[in-house]
Amino acid sequence: MTLPTVSSIPETRAAVAALREAGRSVALVPTMGALHDGHLALVGRARETADAIVASVFVNPLQFGPTEDFDRYPRTLDADAAALARAGVDLLFAPSVADMYPEGRTLITVAAGPVGDVLEGRVRPGHFDGMLTVVAKLLHIVGPDVVLFGQKDAQQVFLVRRMVADLDVPVRVEVVPTVREPDGLARSSRNRYLSADDRRRALALPSALRAAAAAADRGTERMLEAARAELEGRDGVRPDYLAAVDPATFQPVEDRYRGPALVLVAARVGGTRLIDNALVPVG
Ligand code: AMP
Repeated sequence: MTLPTVSSIPETRAAVAALREAGRSVALVPTMGALHDGHLALVGRARETADAIVASVFVNPLQFGPTEDFDRYPRTLDADAAALARAGVDLLFAPSVADMYPEGRTLITVAAGPVGDVLEGRVRPGHFDGMLTVVAKLLHIVGPDVVLFGQKDAQQVFLVRRMVADLDVPVRVEVVPTVREPDGLARSSRNRYLSADDRRRALALPSALRAAAAAADRGTERMLEAARAELEGRDGVRPDYLAAVDPATFQPVEDRYRGPALVLVAARVGGTRLIDNALVPVG
């Protein structure tokens, strides 16, 4: 099985137009490659919602900080193409950095606004502007009816939804639940950086989320204390943040808040930065 793979933007537009013949609807699954079952869950959902599936693999330099892992981010395009072909994807868009940014960094970018500066955005300045800019470009290049994202990156989901709503982008956003390893660790392309010891330590993240859920009837402060106890004082685990936000606004929830809260955690495990989240009914 070989998957039609294109890198140039004009060729991609032509290939998508061909897929659209006979009125077929199109789904887009944007990824940075190094694919795992989480990505394939997005493809599975795409198959249920559209007639044709376009996947993209692009490690976007705009969303990496100068000290982040852009250069060493895993690139496994042949294996990715094989997995996408098996999963029923119709077209792979795998542009080079020069295809996407022929003039270097774009002069014009999408600004994520205040929610782009908190949590992930505070630790990774500019990350969400870079992410939204590439998502906007991908949406303009492919022009899908539906675009799929994983709940694993909850702040990304919030900001993409806001971009689509605020800028009237003509696309439907579908969100797929986080796919986990049997022991609870969220699947991530970065998990392959983990040593065996760090892999074990990484379970502190899902443990913290479980502890939060178990304490959710005691108010958000006690809930976060319970989660923090799973993270702090663990050898080799350095928490970046642990927070509970209102999923509708991404604003921190107060102790007396009752309703669904999104509990978000990020930590460095060894040299690897991991994130996870869970929607928890408080009260
Ligand atoms: P990435 O390649 O890490 O940029 O991820 C591409 C897409 O896959 C994003 O929408 C992610 O949220 C989604 N994704 C990554 N990991 C998971 C996972 N464990 N479960 C569900 N979706 C995921």
